[in-house]
Amino acid sequence: MLPLSHRTKIVATLGPASSSPEIIRQLIEAGMTVARLNFSHGSYEDHATTIQRIREASEALDCPVTLLQDLQGPKVRVAQLPDRAGFQGQSAGAISLIQEAPIDLVPQDRADDCPNAIPIDYPFLAEEAELGMRILLDDGQLELEAIAIAPPVVTCKVIRGGLLKSRKGVNFPSLNLRLPSLTEKDRQDLEFGIVQGVDWVALSFVRTAEDIRTLKTFLRDRGAPNLPVIAKIEKPQAIAHLDDLVRECDGLMVARGDLGVEMKPEKVPLLQKKIIRACNQAGIPVITATQMLESMIENSRPTRAEASDVANAIADGTDAVMLSGESAVGKHPVAAVAMMARIASAMEPELEFVNFPPTEFSETNALSEALNVIDKIINLCCIAAFTTTGYTAKLAAAERPGVPVVAFTPEPLTYHRLNLIWGVIPLLIEEPVTSVESLVTAVENILRQRQIARSGDKILILGGSPIQQVRGTNFLKIHTLRDR
Ligand code: ATP
Ligand code: MG
Ligand code: MG
Repeated sequence: MLPLSHRTKIVATLGPASSSPEIIRQLIEAGMTVARLNFSHGSYEDHATTIQRIREASEALDCPVTLLQDLQGPKVRVAQLPDRAGFQGQSAGAISLIQEAPIDLVPQDRADDCPNAIPIDYPFLAEEAELGMRILLDDGQLELEAIAIAPPVVTCKVIRGGLLKSRKGVNFPSLNLRLPSLTEKDRQDLEFGIVQGVDWVALSFVRTAEDIRTLKTFLRDRGAPNLPVIAKIEKPQAIAHLDDLVRECDGLMVARGDLGVEMKPEKVPLLQKKIIRACNQAGIPVITATQMLESMIENSRPTRAEASDVANAIADGTDAVMLSGESAVGKHPVAAVAMMARIASAMEPELEFVNFPPTEFSETNALSEALNVIDKIINLCCIAAFTTTGYTAKLAAAERPGVPVVAFTPEPLTYHRLNLIWGVIPLLIEEPVTSVESLVTAVENILRQRQIARSGDKILILGGSPIQQVRGTNFLKIHTLRDR
């Protein structure tokens, strides 16, 4: 069971609405290729259960699923709101912020002293607050202005009201927060993730490439030096250091929720194009995230504007489109994934991508560059790339060829990691391959068996020879499937 109808990857955030075995299975069948676990929410117990279920479903459906661990990073959040009715006169676990009304904020560790204030998980809140500063809540949905500071309390006026729920994000655009890039919580979460065998890790609120180096040093020290890292681009500092981040990271995420708060919403569309282009050029994957099909949290169909947003991100060249609340807490998680898959299928045949020059002058790069030329002259069915680390498959797919890149790998790790990359279909080869002839036979058999290719089809094989001592890719073979 493999999605052959489209090449864009679909990331779905799993949460209370999507962690049952049945929904996970349906999500994979609908086209989810990456499961994102947001470590800002949920307990280790919940995440461990979800991971176990994803692995089981992936195995049962014979379909790889990339597990993406998303670390909270230095993000300030509203703490758990008191679960008692009557707190600010509102329903349990939520509070209604009324336009123009005053409301108190207090650091979480002082919340007991101020039972009527909203607890915020930033200890230096009152110390650093400035009169007149803006405070944005829930990706900027709600807005406050500080009107009085009497430590530990900051009193605010509600500028834009609405319902505030527990654990929603808080942004202070005018402050430089005193928080490390990799927090104590992130370190603990990562240790958990490493033990659980997550495939990729994303860090929130990255500012500079140094933040990524800190994360990579930590991974090395914990025995996971090859765990690929994604920087979530959501701060003006990250935009300023984009080129360095592209060099240091294995992938990027356009984290539009906080990006639109830290910078202005009208800046997001151009930044999205710029970030995607930088990643395409460097040959690393990029995920476009947040509010893509937001209205599907409630409705079974998206707005036309949302469908266009998904389509435009695909046209921009994104590797993957992502669902957040739609799949984590929404009413239609499976329909949202299916919708993204349909939009991708409708868009892709019409697109033409820019072909960037190689980033390195290696043999693998040279062979990858040749793909598009060959694909234009003869009608290929697919590209079969032999890959141990995934590198060859990634390079081939970065060329954005007109046909799928089927990645044959003996490594289960590579098999799961590759399902985030645009255009790659990862396949696990269990039998050892000893010669180029047996490699061709194995490829042919598997492609026939999976109904990816049949008699008469031409495939392009990328591999390394001699087989036993491969050091990268050094041959390209055009192979025609003969009648049997
Ligand atoms: P981020 O800034 O990392 O995107 P977020 O708080 O916006 O964090 P999303 O992953 O975008 O979180 O999910 C959207 C909403 O879905 C969250 O605000 C939260 O209310 C809910 N949610 C997500 N994952 C979970 C979970 N595991 N448990 C409970 N609620 C969740
Ligand atoms: Mg975010
Ligand atoms: Mg979000």
